[in-house]
Amino acid sequence: MSGPERLDHFMARANAAYYAGPDPLAGFTTAPEISQVFGELLGAWAAVAWQAMGAPEEAILAEAGPGRGTLMADALRVLRRAAPGLAGRVQLVETSPSLRARQASVVPGAAWHDRIEDLPPAPLLLLANEFLDALPIRQCVRRGAGWMERHVADGTFVELPCPAPPGPDAAEGEVVEWSDAARAVVRHVAARVVAHGGVALFIDYGPEHSAPGDSLQAVRAGEAADPLGPVGEADLTAHVDFAALAAIARAEGAAVQGPVAQGIFLTRLGLFERSRALAGRQPPATAGALMQAAQRLAEPHLMGRLFKAVAVCHPALPPLPGFAA
Ligand code: SAH
Repeated sequence: MSGPERLDHFMARANAAYYAGPDPLAGFTTAPEISQVFGELLGAWAAVAWQAMGAPEEAILAEAGPGRGTLMADALRVLRRAAPGLAGRVQLVETSPSLRARQASVVPGAAWHDRIEDLPPAPLLLLANEFLDALPIRQCVRRGAGWMERHVADGTFVELPCPAPPGPDAAEGEVVEWSDAARAVVRHVAARVVAHGGVALFIDYGPEHSAPGDSLQAVRAGEAADPLGPVGEADLTAHVDFAALAAIARAEGAAVQGPVAQGIFLTRLGLFERSRALAGRQPPATAGALMQAAQRLAEPHLMGRLFKAVAVCHPALPPLPGFAA
């Protein structure tokens, strides 16, 4: 590598290398991998949202960053009964060839795209769990009266001058971060649902309000690692700035529902009722694991509070399940 590389370029390169590996999500504990109920609830949610859109025949069911395909496979068990036409028009947005192959084995008949912009123009139901957090971020550091932007060279940060960052102001030495890529995704999705109808449900982790702070993190084989370590060995993510993304969606004319804490959202959708119903038909060990998984998704000190759900939708849509108090 010649010369310092801007952080977002480094992160994009590192994640592309990481996700190209044979099983990048081995040992990961994302919500759909924790409980089948997560995907089932989102399938039921999509069916209700589709009805609220007027059940358009031509609507497409899309997922961004489907990982191992677990969420969509679980959602489709519900949707094949609730909205069979929609269940037959699955569109997956995935850049990793190895993950596409895994997805094909559990979601046969889907169509694949590299970018959300490539989805066909149609009323949209988009699901995206832990997708935005994987998109590359930029970071600027307050230095005196100005700002320096973080670049990466030889495994360390190098600071180069930058204009004021598009984020909150910060004190001396503090980091402000943002993702041009996440902003572009939300801007595109917002414009698309305004033009064609529909809704995009993003579930991810991040604070309620925009604030300075460095949230870049790396996970390697389930353990925290150095984000600037060898490229392709760790998964790099950052907090999602829900407030900034909601403002961008509204500026495109879309409505925004939430963000709502994941624990509240899933509990309103029936996480515990559905888990109990499933547990009732299982031997005690399996039943206990199902209820523990539900708690892990919903408890505030586990995944229930840091993770949030937000819907970017056509302004005519009524309050959707999970968002109405
Ligand atoms: N949603 C899954 C996986 C989350 S990991 C789950 O909850 O388990 C992030 C996913 O986004 C992976 O499938 C990864 O390959 C995909 N991804 C990351 N960057 C992407 C990009 N720029 N475009 C499309 N997909 C991307």
